[in-house]
Amino acid sequence: MTRYETVIGLEVHAQLKTASKIFCSCSTRFGAQPNENVCPVCSGMPGVLPVLNRKVVEFAAKMGLAIDCRINTKSVFARKNYFYPDLPKGYQTSQFELPICEHGHVDIATAKGPKRVGVTRIHMEEDAGKSIHSAQDNSSYVDLNRACVPLIEIVSEPDMRSAEEAVAYLKALRSILVYLDICDGNMEEGSFRCDANVSVRPFGQEAFGTRAELKNLNSFKHVQKAIEFEVERQIDLVEDGEAVVQETRLYDANKGTTHSMRGKEEAHDYRYFPCPDLVPLVLEQGWLDQWRAELPELPRARERRFATQYGLSADAAEVLTAERDLAEYFEAAVAAFAEPKKIANWIMTDILRELNATGGRAADLKLTPQGLAALVRLVEQGAISAKSGKDILPELLATGADPEALVKAKGLVQISDVSSLAAAVESVLAENPKELAEFRAGKTKLMGFFVGQVMRRTKGQGNPAVVNQLLNEKLQQ
Ligand code: ADP
Ligand code: MG
Ligand code: ZN
Repeated sequence: MTRYETVIGLEVHAQLKTASKIFCSCSTRFGAQPNENVCPVCSGMPGVLPVLNRKVVEFAAKMGLAIDCRINTKSVFARKNYFYPDLPKGYQTSQFELPICEHGHVDIATAKGPKRVGVTRIHMEEDAGKSIHSAQDNSSYVDLNRACVPLIEIVSEPDMRSAEEAVAYLKALRSILVYLDICDGNMEEGSFRCDANVSVRPFGQEAFGTRAELKNLNSFKHVQKAIEFEVERQIDLVEDGEAVVQETRLYDANKGTTHSMRGKEEAHDYRYFPCPDLVPLVLEQGWLDQWRAELPELPRARERRFATQYGLSADAAEVLTAERDLAEYFEAAVAAFAEPKKIANWIMTDILRELNATGGRAADLKLTPQGLAALVRLVEQGAISAKSGKDILPELLATGADPEALVKAKGLVQISDVSSLAAAVESVLAENPKELAEFRAGKTKLMGFFVGQVMRRTKGQGNPAVVNQLLNEKLQQ
């Protein structure tokens, strides 16, 4: 048992799904040719003026409303000054003293029960461009397509006490952003990024220890591993009587370690000042009322609704609502075949296994929700056995074929028709008088033998439930 407590605060950057950039009309499309989506404003030419994208304000405010922030009806843009080749203006337009949202919170589930993580603030800002270092010609290139792409930064309180809690918080945030349809949440492509501030302190000590800020965390797994490594490193330092240095550290995913990148800047190093090119942003109450009214059902509310409306377990409701497109897949399947628990079971076992294995998303599955519903119906109505259903699922997932057509083509249709199965049962009993006599003399475990014979006669297509029932009736006579 360690004598140290971990303290974590997260800074999350979410790229907003607007069509154009935050201060100009250039496209935000990913994958364009280098410097294709660039104009005098986002390339930092002198003499130009920024014009704020209204959608950015709407999206930032909606995130604030979704996590119970106070929305500041007046907020101010500020310049954060630093020099870097991918920042052509020499400053990043951000918000500093008066951000658009403050004092929110996100509820997470932890090993010790539910926990509330405080959100200090959400502010709007522009992204920087991208530097590309080419080993081929020993040169560096700058691509400004990403310069001026809108971001919100969501800063948490130092409320998390383990890597697991940090990941749970991140997953909850990401889920809310995706439900709001304001960020695509893609960590690999960098549209959802996180820096983790980590420190340790002896249990019982009130003052926080010195923190390191970890960067380059582009998956939940990396977040987890980087924090775990960093906590060990800091505890070792403290145990050896050495000091933790406040700095920015880079995570190396191959080695699973963090290493120092640069000393940590303080806010005053950035010479923040209010941006003279942008007037203070004043929100009308009418806009806020409208944005609040437009909020969709959020993950927590949907989780509760799934539990009550569909009678799902708390666990199933949580798993099925964590990803918005999975929740929608489930509901579309239930709309096509109203057996929510059965459909939930198929999704939580086979469909999730497939998604985990391929890293794919529910929205991209070739098997449509209606297709899954058709398959579950075939099984539930006894047209095919549960085993046949599981057997053909991989093919359905791979091709998106129509389940009914595939079942017919493969000759998997079960015989549930009582009269044809009764004939098979009669024949089996007539052909096995010895076993029949033994059964009636008390050797009831021969039941399995008879079921097997009938299934053989029906080439495995007899509905086991009907076969069992018929055999029970006949054997008792
Ligand atoms: P910056 O990193 O820009 O200097 P802040 O001082 O606002 O900004 O802190 C950034 C993040 O660091 C916040 O999420 C905050 O909760 C977290 N944090 C601050 N102090 C500590 C600490 N001692 N240990 C862990 N996290 C901390
Ligand atoms: Mg920081
Ligand atoms: Zn532009």
